[in-house]
Amino acid sequence: MDIRVKIEITGPDGVVHEHEIAAFEKGSESAAEIGLSIGDSKELLLTLQQEIVAAQAAAFCADHSTCLCCAGRLRRKGSKAIQYRTVFGDITIDSPRFYHCRCHAGSAQTFSPLTELLPHHVAPEMLWLETKWASLVSYGVTVDLLKDVLPIDKRLNAETVRRHLGRVAMRMEAELADERYSFVETNAYEREQLSNPEGPITVGIDGGYIRSREKGQSHFEVTVGKSIPTDRPDRYLGLVQSHDEKPKRRLNEILKDQGWQENQQVTFMTDGGDSVINIARDMAPASEHILDWFHITMRITVMHQYVKGLAHLNPDEAEEMARRLRQIKGYLWNGNLHDGQEVIDDLVMDLDDIETQYASIKALRKAAREFQTYIANNAWMIPNYAERRRYGERVSTGFVESTVNTVVGKRFCKRQQMRWSRTGAHLMLQTRTRTLDGTLRKKFQQWYPGMKSDGDQKLAA
Ligand SMILES: [Zn+2]
Repeated sequence: MDIRVKIEITGPDGVVHEHEIAAFEKGSESAAEIGLSIGDSKELLLTLQQEIVAAQAAAFCADHSTCLCCAGRLRRKGSKAIQYRTVFGDITIDSPRFYHCRCHAGSAQTFSPLTELLPHHVAPEMLWLETKWASLVSYGVTVDLLKDVLPIDKRLNAETVRRHLGRVAMRMEAELADERYSFVETNAYEREQLSNPEGPITVGIDGGYIRSREKGQSHFEVTVGKSIPTDRPDRYLGLVQSHDEKPKRRLNEILKDQGWQENQQVTFMTDGGDSVINIARDMAPASEHILDWFHITMRITVMHQYVKGLAHLNPDEAEEMARRLRQIKGYLWNGNLHDGQEVIDDLVMDLDDIETQYASIKALRKAAREFQTYIANNAWMIPNYAERRRYGERVSTGFVESTVNTVVGKRFCKRQQMRWSRTGAHLMLQTRTRTLDGTLRKKFQQWYPGMKSDGDQKLAA
């Protein structure tokens, strides 16, 4: 069977251009022959793209080949071929150069209209597609994937994708306004005049670690967060604190994007670390800081594991300690710090006194003492979790941890033996968080008006 594909383009001058762009010889005897193959589609899309781009470029140049003031025809000074990288292949475009009109000063100078239309030589959608996929999987896999399904030029390599992603992230960084000490802009009277706010926003912030490529350092810390409004989609936050000069501004922008207003309640849930709390400090007038319940239970669980080990050698003492741990958990869950801390003190003393051959007794003692300090330092952030739960409010748990795994995990570490610079990791976090919460495309649409919104979707769990 002979299949021919024809294209018909009507230019702005009304002239119709029609010609054949592809021809396929197809059988119908086997499954493999039915329909377009990937190869057919690549060939077809590339030719189609060439035709469309050529027609558009010609129309644009025709439009810009007359003087804006006197409408006189501009004198042409040759042309040169430029390469335009699109999702459907690298397209060579003939880019004419014109002299400025004699009615202008400096008419000896020349200009190329297409350089103004396409300053970067990379199509916005190509940049978006590369950035999106490289935020999810490695640069190399991104290249393989795109080449598999699209007529992407053979010369595209991991290094180019890395540079393009960096360019996108730096553009986002450049848009971020100055850091401030406080982001509270209203006084109490002004807040009373604000319209009724939407439901409360919960912001969880936590840290994770990434392998470092810098000398004398194996890992560095990254800060990751998730902002969860009652009535709007979630957003992710990601930054490298030792690199970032604007962590508070970054969080503030996310809250504002989510329609937050200063009379709206924000609950910050953290593990109590100073650096993380500082990001949220002086951010929202109606705010509370809560120690994420997840971090309390995690520490108690670790101690329980040790006590189980102890039970093999000292069953009676271990049983008593397990009872104390259950008590501590109960008291803290109910926000009863007084009794909770008393039992923690008892536990620490018992552990000091116990005589045992248990190999991990030192580790258990250390865990208990650290827990004692942890609860004392963060006492001000421990609410009555039980009551919060009854009122249907968040006590966490675990969503922050899963955020760290989602944002940092797959792309940054473990199985991929990849090492990062602080700058590289920070920039990657910017595109990755937007890819995960589905706002990368929206950012591109702000930069490139007219870009359609298809292809944007929330990817993270
Ligand atoms: Zn003129």
